[in-house]
Amino acid sequence: MNRAQQQRGGAGSLFSVVIPCFNEEEVIRETHSQLHAALQKSGLPLEFIFVDDGSADRTLEILLELQRNDPAMRVVALSRNFGHQVAVTAGLEQTTGNVVGIIDADLQDPPEVFLEMLAAWREGIDVAYGQRRERAGETAFKRSSAKAFYRLINRISDVDIPLDTGDFRLMDRAAVDALLAMPERDRFVRGMVAWLGFPQRAIAYDRAARFAGETKYPLKKMLRFATDGLISFSLVPLRFATLFGGLVISLSMLGILYALVLRIFTNDWVEGWTLLFIAVLFIGGVQIAFLGVIGEYVGRIYGEAKRRPLYFLKLRAGFPDQPKPAATNDRHGDDA
Ligand code: UDP
Ligand code: MG
Repeated sequence: MNRAQQQRGGAGSLFSVVIPCFNEEEVIRETHSQLHAALQKSGLPLEFIFVDDGSADRTLEILLELQRNDPAMRVVALSRNFGHQVAVTAGLEQTTGNVVGIIDADLQDPPEVFLEMLAAWREGIDVAYGQRRERAGETAFKRSSAKAFYRLINRISDVDIPLDTGDFRLMDRAAVDALLAMPERDRFVRGMVAWLGFPQRAIAYDRAARFAGETKYPLKKMLRFATDGLISFSLVPLRFATLFGGLVISLSMLGILYALVLRIFTNDWVEGWTLLFIAVLFIGGVQIAFLGVIGEYVGRIYGEAKRRPLYFLKLRAGFPDQPKPAATNDRHGDDA
């Protein structure tokens, strides 16, 4: 047994679990009790960090009520809805455990799988991520678009993001600290963790349907999430623009040559309006499309350049270092 293994799971290990919640009033009590029931078996002291991502329903109220009777429970509330990936990041920043789990609030990912992940961690694995065998309750469109997306991103980026993987995972403290040291604002967590390296292992599981409520990822959010992933991990769309531009220029050269030959050596040179019309439309379309691609990158550079904090907290409850003022404007909480 090496040193890393000896430190894992011995006395003094704390298991932190991050749960992002956005309008989850229907499930949150059940999630809380199932997490407790399943993770009791780990034998580790536990810490649950529920992140309220600006819910508009009673999620926060219920969380605070649960927290009052549960010393293992901590609650942070973001000042508004910042999105799943930022909520996860905010939760990770509050963890103190030497092993950290991330799980959705809707019980699609069974908490018992954490036990298998912990076993891998004890063997020296730093990142144990859940890989879905079955995806009950998800539309065929969601399944096939997800599959196509991961194929695409793996082909055109330099990280290999495992197929059928979400953010359900377990990470050693070292990996969490490394992840939090990455300052980017467009946080595609599963890609960032894949990029980190460290010993990683897939743990296969069956994904259930949502316990209650509806998906908080409508098509628009999913598209945005996919674009973030592609653009944070690949310059291929830009290179493709360059290549395609080169191709169009070569074709244009031929066209120009053709026009000159007609003009100089023949009398047919008023002809060719159709070709001209098509060429103008085509090149115009290509230019606008690739301006859009460049715009996506520039927009993200703009976002980074503003250097705004990733989120603001409006509330923290249940942390051992409290009492604290209700509002903090520090991205890192308040542990200065
Ligand atoms: N979520 C969040 N902020 C958002 C959207 C979602 O914190 O803006 C949370 C949500 O409460 C859930 C997890 O992210 O715990 C995954 O969302 P969901 O289950 O709706 O996504 P799906 O499983 O349908 O992909
Ligand atoms: Mg879900």
